[in-house]
Amino acid sequence: MHSNYGHDGGPPPKRPGTGAALFRNLVVVAVVAAVAVFVSGFLRGDPGITALLPHLAPTVNGTPKDPGPDASPGQGQQKAARAPDTPPPGLEEAGHPLGSPAKPAQASNSYKFLATNADGTPVGYSPCRPVHYVVNAALAPAGSEGLIADAIAKIAAASGLTFVDDGATKENAAEKRKPYQPALYGDRWAPLLISWTTPEAAPALTGSVIGTGGSTMYSFGTGPKSYVSGSMALDAPQITQLLRNAGGAHYVSAVIQHELGHVVGLDHVDDPIQLMYPEIGAPDGLAAGDLNGLYKLHTALCRPDL
Ligand SMILES: [Zn+2]
Repeated sequence: MHSNYGHDGGPPPKRPGTGAALFRNLVVVAVVAAVAVFVSGFLRGDPGITALLPHLAPTVNGTPKDPGPDASPGQGQQKAARAPDTPPPGLEEAGHPLGSPAKPAQASNSYKFLATNADGTPVGYSPCRPVHYVVNAALAPAGSEGLIADAIAKIAAASGLTFVDDGATKENAAEKRKPYQPALYGDRWAPLLISWTTPEAAPALTGSVIGTGGSTMYSFGTGPKSYVSGSMALDAPQITQLLRNAGGAHYVSAVIQHELGHVVGLDHVDDPIQLMYPEIGAPDGLAAGDLNGLYKLHTALCRPDL
């Protein structure tokens, strides 16, 4: 259990300082082959109100893949082929982005992407298909009802991404979650897993870390990368405590939005006004930098080939 919030019902304490532990250890795994497929993932762990952890090891959501038998470039044709351990390509993919988010009222470049492609476009989910999600709510704290849906609505509005609630799951948070689990979710990319869990079950939540979020990206060889599945873990005991405080729901909502920010592709920034600052101490919701970053994610590549 965690009880050292330093939170007495007043406003959350300010951060101890900037530049502490930003989790810079981006994980990129490449396979050397003619047309290789690789999967790698990002997972960001975020402390609650207390001080930052000095370091959190990155987590790889997947392993390098060998090129599939159909992925040989020998025919001089780069036709989208189904690689091993992947669903049929292009499921639910429309010919155009599904949403068209409104441009943020205030310009700001105070945002950062977890990854970008060679052409500078952010690595994101294909905006041409919905992002499905499931929730493991077995440990959901009292008073948390609606917080996830509300946070998703805000991220959806800012990014133009369409989210689809696939309901409850019994899947538990895992350090190396497979992005393709046909036995559990059918022949498609596994939906984003949102789980209320504990530090015992999800060690990345140990100590003051209150949530983690990230997605697995996929590419064919050195081609453009896109996210195909993700996971978000919320520290149920810690959040249960927070929700007992006045204004706790507001803070928890900020935590969930921050983690969703990671899931869709935003990295931490050094600007404490932004929700993507690594320590969520002043939960005023999405700020101008966050909103501009999310808006830019609607330019992420559509992926009929994935
Ligand atoms: Zn974070």
